[in-house]
Amino acid sequence: MSQIHDRFQTTIAGSLPKPAWLAEPNKLWPAWRASGAELERAKRDATLLWLKEQEDAGIDIVTEGEQSRQHFVHGFLEFVDGIDFSRKVKMGIRDNRYDAMVPVVSGPLRLKGRVHEVEARLARGHTGRKLKITLPGPMTIVDTIADEHYRDKVKLAMAFAELLNQEARALEKDGVDVIQFDEPAFNVYLDDVKRWGIDALHRAIEGLKCTTCVHICYGYGIQANIDWKRTLGGEWRQYAEIFPALAKSRIKQVSLECINSKVPIELLKLLKGKDVLVGVIDVATDAVETPQQVAETIERALKFVPANHLFPCTNCGMAPMDREVALKKLRALAAGAALARKKLGNRGQSPIPAKSRRKKTRR
Ligand code: ZN
Repeated sequence: MSQIHDRFQTTIAGSLPKPAWLAEPNKLWPAWRASGAELERAKRDATLLWLKEQEDAGIDIVTEGEQSRQHFVHGFLEFVDGIDFSRKVKMGIRDNRYDAMVPVVSGPLRLKGRVHEVEARLARGHTGRKLKITLPGPMTIVDTIADEHYRDKVKLAMAFAELLNQEARALEKDGVDVIQFDEPAFNVYLDDVKRWGIDALHRAIEGLKCTTCVHICYGYGIQANIDWKRTLGGEWRQYAEIFPALAKSRIKQVSLECINSKVPIELLKLLKGKDVLVGVIDVATDAVETPQQVAETIERALKFVPANHLFPCTNCGMAPMDREVALKKLRALAAGAALARKKLGNRGQSPIPAKSRRKKTRR
């Protein structure tokens, strides 16, 4: 097993491909291959497999790879009462970027029980590394569901935020170190982020003592997203609109897209004071980054993010990718971070004095 690093700690946005024996491969909404107890066993096996692969690849902060959920939003919604799944309607989502068949909110929202308890406890019991679990953010949920009950976006978002908070508090008790909210919708509804999106996130993290994170990307590497990105022009400045507000928020970490994107790198400086999970691995291409490319992206980001706040990460989830490619990308991520540590020597050293660091480890 590789060692844990004290700078440029690597992590991933969250999801990993499901093995072909668990679900249809290379799909964003894959059908499960089994049902009942057999499906639960397969999910368990896949979760353990990816924990081991992440550890062996050298990833410092691991996830359960989202092996137990079919989709990052609906994996949560399935556990919520007040949603009519028998009635799915076609809705243009992410500002009509693509159509999805979405269920309808038909009554007051309530959690049926725990959402990610099984996989969180399983992962916690099988890794000594820091563990991250992802949840969909309130704004992204609201953008992925039809509503006939609340009839008000903000009220609906706050209702979901309350449920997310309930699950997040329980995950913290399960021993999860980082809880991340996925908010791709933040890059689409820039004014709403400032009006109520961050408030909804604050509601979702209320009372949490563990590390909190928000992931904001330009989407998975699916065709609709690739086409959308072509319309965004030579420079993607969405982050410039929302980062200043996020810098003032109580969220500790921001996960963002960097390599191969047209995000001007200097926008990262707008996240002063936050941990920045810098996307150094592109999930929209099967071409595997070299460690040199990864290290170069880290170096570019380092001009705007202090080393002790910089966490090399993937641009987005790897769920729809080829399994072998994803594994190679995990290794490239870790190898690139290792190369950056070596190349930068003490420049990348954590500024925390040795004395206080010793105290921390004793606790
Ligand atoms: Zn993403």
